[in-house]
Amino acid sequence: MIEDKNQSRTSISELGEFGLINHLTKNFKIQNKTTIKGVGDDAAVLEIKNKQVLVTTDLLIEGVHFDLSYMPLKHLGYKAVMVNLSDVYAMNGEASQITVSIAVSNRFPLEALEELYKGIHLACENYKVDLVGGDTTSSTTGLLINITAIGQVNKEDVVYRNTAKPNDLLVVTGDLGAAYLGLQVLEREKQVFEVNPNSQPDLSGYSYLIERQLKPESRKDIVKLLKDLEVKPTSMIDISDGLSSEILHICTQSKVGCDLYEEKLPLDPQVISTCEEFDLNSTTIALSGGEDYELLFTISQEDFPKIKGNPHLTVIGHITDESLGANLVTRAGQKIKLTAQGWNALS
Ligand code: ADP
Ligand code: MG
Repeated sequence: MIEDKNQSRTSISELGEFGLINHLTKNFKIQNKTTIKGVGDDAAVLEIKNKQVLVTTDLLIEGVHFDLSYMPLKHLGYKAVMVNLSDVYAMNGEASQITVSIAVSNRFPLEALEELYKGIHLACENYKVDLVGGDTTSSTTGLLINITAIGQVNKEDVVYRNTAKPNDLLVVTGDLGAAYLGLQVLEREKQVFEVNPNSQPDLSGYSYLIERQLKPESRKDIVKLLKDLEVKPTSMIDISDGLSSEILHICTQSKVGCDLYEEKLPLDPQVISTCEEFDLNSTTIALSGGEDYELLFTISQEDFPKIKGNPHLTVIGHITDESLGANLVTRAGQKIKLTAQGWNALS
């Protein structure tokens, strides 16, 4: 529905593999001193001194992780980078390089790959990371994108998931649930379009939700903010699969429990109004929505004055003893066991 029917189509086979790689990567400028050699040899060469090196990778498959009928390729490229950088920031590190591997079918003209790489390029510029390599191959069906991000962190700054302690505060950045609702809005418009191809999508009133779905940002700013505030989280994770699933990872790996307060969950007004319109429970959406790419972390209570009142950070609960389990405390004051899907209303 967002597709431009008049675009020109250049077959990628006209360029050949090396021509294609060169064409797609020639505008990327190296921005990091740690990149000694980028695209163009058998391997990239990095020199990272006195730091621990972070490596993370994600595979995105058309039809599973994205739908090109409403995901413009430029946005997809940007988002694919964000997904990876978010994992580096969740270790309290700095991202410095990425590799991008793609498998494409001949359904994709050169112009489509150019769009994808425009998004990747913009992400590299905005987040100051270097594209240092990748692989290009053909696919018989859809598009596959694999991005690997490389980052660095001082030994004393790295933050794991398994180090939360009882009485620590549970803190989340930004707000929750918007990306999932953006997807619901786009899915609804797609269905309308399939019934009536002349319909124009009406996305007014959902701009924040759609932006969160199509152009998410990862929280590089939070790593800096925490450094500036002199707060080192006791544990941290990024929220890709939904808040409750990520809280459970922290609790399970740290061998702790938690109380999470329903009334504290940060929700954008568009999330609240769209939940009403779609007859969805906003707490369920905040807990299980996914794709928010915010950071969830724990801090020691002593650090609370340093983060208090910060508009990016919301204290949503605290860590308890493992024997108490992971719970949602509802607005009515009832304790309900958290599950990866949100909460278990039956327990
Ligand atoms: P090899 O045959 O050694 O695998 P390639 O011909 O696949 O080498 O790649 C040549 C160079 O281009 C390498 O530096 C590789 O990392 C880089 N490269 C290949 N595909 C991509 C891509 N899709 N995006 C960015 N760099 C790529
Ligand atoms: Mg190769």
